[in-house]
Amino acid sequence: AITIYTNEDIKPGAIAGQRIAVIGYGSQGRAHAQNLKDSGHDVIVGVRQGGTGWKHATADGVPTAEPAEAVRGADIIAILTPDMIQNEIYRDVIEPNAKPGAALLFAHGFSIIYDRITPRDDMDVILVAPKGPGDLVRREFARGRGVPSLFAIEKDATGKARDRAMGYAKGIGGATGGLLETSFREETETDLFGEQAVLCGGAKELVIQGFNTLVEAGYQPEIAYFECLHELKLIVDLFYEGGISKMHHFISETAKWGAVASGPRVITDETRARMKTILDEIQSGQFAREWIAENEAGKPKYEALLTEDRASQIEQVGARLRDRMAWLQTAKQAAA
Ligand code: NDP
Ligand code: MG
Ligand code: MG
Repeated sequence: AITIYTNEDIKPGAIAGQRIAVIGYGSQGRAHAQNLKDSGHDVIVGVRQGGTGWKHATADGVPTAEPAEAVRGADIIAILTPDMIQNEIYRDVIEPNAKPGAALLFAHGFSIIYDRITPRDDMDVILVAPKGPGDLVRREFARGRGVPSLFAIEKDATGKARDRAMGYAKGIGGATGGLLETSFREETETDLFGEQAVLCGGAKELVIQGFNTLVEAGYQPEIAYFECLHELKLIVDLFYEGGISKMHHFISETAKWGAVASGPRVITDETRARMKTILDEIQSGQFAREWIAENEAGKPKYEALLTEDRASQIEQVGARLRDRMAWLQTAKQAAA
């Protein structure tokens, strides 16, 4: 079984005295920078003056600078901006300003695995990826806990890459949550597969098609919404807390029989073959090439498909029903 490293496994002072530049102050950047600072590290956030990230960092009391200035003098440069623009930021801001022997740190391997960035030979290339959104990474840290995280070493140019990755991971609370070693390739390909086939693509489409099946058979859309979308949260919470077994434990005998007898009739060998095709396209680089081309074309297909999802009947029905759920309104206000 994989080793799960905790704080005791990390060399004390693994990144002592190293200045960390966090480029980007969005979901991950905000959490990493604040946690690293509270762990006693010398952190500077590279953000565009006047932007949202700059406003947040200033309000949070984290030192900021223009990205190029933050990169100068940094020992570890964490690139925490959207993946599609990392190559430009590397080219324009990082490569010309990074000091020799600096480490380039990613939270996702896309730019490296698909050759969007070729780091300078003198640089370490490392990855630290919390298995959770930034707000959870920050919240758990603030409670003295942490979110399990992955780390990987792509290139150890200085002999310090491993200490740097593990020290950084510890600084964001990742070793309190448990630290697992992976590779850039494994992290990138499993992350892409998970979001496409299971989490974002698969689950969403399962919900929409279940809803459509009921509505086309003449059932009221509102009733179909509750059954196919709303109640999914209860099931997912059970998976999350105690795996498939916990769901089995809490649902009725009839639901359980339906689950074991009908589940494999919905997700069939044909679906499994499609999942394999999706994985093949990720591994061959075809998915990345298409997504990069789509970005370069101004995302016409992406926008059209998103519009289609947003205009679907389940969305119209859901918005009206959720307006009646007071607890969701409070959550919405808190997030705004
Ligand atoms: P965000 O989309 O939240 O990053 C937004 C930040 O990037 C903002 O500070 C924004 O600046 C800055 N930015 C955007 N465009 C530019 C630009 N052209 N020049 C300079 N800065 C720019 O990113 P995430 O935190 O979601 O993702 C960061 C990395 O972490 C990615 O590699 C992602 O795959 C990975 N990751 C993300 C997870 C998540 O939960 N979101 C989980 C694990 C990994 P401004 O504020 O000025 O607009
Ligand atoms: Mg992921
Ligand atoms: Mg992802």
